[in-house]
Amino acid sequence: MKRIGVLTSGGDSPGMNAAIRAVVRKGIFHGVEVAGVFSGYQGLIDGRIKNMEAGDVGDIIQRGGTKLFSARCEEFRTDAGQEKAIEQLKKNGLDGLVVIGGDGSYRGAMALTKRGFPCVGVPGTIDNDIPGTDYTIGFDTALNTVIEAIDKIRDTATSHERTFIIEVMGRDAGDLALWAGLAGGAETILIPEETFDLDDMIDRLEKGRKRGKKHSIIIVAEGVMNGNELASLIEERANIETRVSVLGHIQRGGSPTARDRVLGSLFGARAVEVLLEGTGGRAIGMKNHQVVDYDMTKAFTEKHDADMSLYTLSKELSI
Ligand code: ADP
Repeated sequence: MKRIGVLTSGGDSPGMNAAIRAVVRKGIFHGVEVAGVFSGYQGLIDGRIKNMEAGDVGDIIQRGGTKLFSARCEEFRTDAGQEKAIEQLKKNGLDGLVVIGGDGSYRGAMALTKRGFPCVGVPGTIDNDIPGTDYTIGFDTALNTVIEAIDKIRDTATSHERTFIIEVMGRDAGDLALWAGLAGGAETILIPEETFDLDDMIDRLEKGRKRGKKHSIIIVAEGVMNGNELASLIEERANIETRVSVLGHIQRGGSPTARDRVLGSLFGARAVEVLLEGTGGRAIGMKNHQVVDYDMTKAFTEKHDADMSLYTLSKELSI
């Protein structure tokens, strides 16, 4: 490999910049040229590809978002779109590509690999929902953002003796709600992995009140239902008035935590090593505190398992 590319795709996440920096500098360290592909697969099809020098990735390790921009691209899902992408990769003299993104981006990377162009995937998503890795880049930062919000909301919840519902991101995966709920001392956590039980939730709220709890925090992952819907259900069933906070996109931004910067650096560097061995179709991850690489297909054919021991523990502690 003489020249490799790097792109970010799908939803952005804090720490992607650390990964880009690592790919560029590790590549240069090994004597290969590195090019940045701007705006994900759309930019690839459009040929938005530029050489990256060590200095081009200076002063980004501490920034959220992605210097390479991200995009969603319908055209890339088609044969014609993928052929255009391959043409651009060849035209720009690229021999391999690092794709930083979620499972959708991995599917795209696998499609290119199957067409004979080696790609390696780096998990960048705040959802922590990629099978094969214990952590994804951005999860820790998003989690800390949610915790900060919970702590602030708790002040008001205590002052006014209210029940607050906080809706967090997570359509299919409850990791963010689960970890934030445990770390934020929430009374109830609702995640897509668990069947929603309204009676149990009301029961817990009422028990808490009886034992003198001044306030309650309910964390709901958006995949279960939206916060306002939940508020109506609680009001109808138990006549408990709640306040709703939908955290939304603040969860995706912000300066990455030290952990996400380290993960981004480790994963980006490993991706280059794997690519330089000439291997495509691999995904980078962390398993039991070790950086690993594995068959990328696993990331979108298998199911991500949330750590349900956190769920059980949270229930035990929030009595
Ligand atoms: P994420 O990578 O965060 O999961 P998406 O699911 O939106 O985000 O995927 C990002 C992009 O990856 C899509 O816009 C599309 O260009 C590409 N992609 C997703 N699924 C496929 C697929 N099955 N085949 C080819 N490309 C895909």
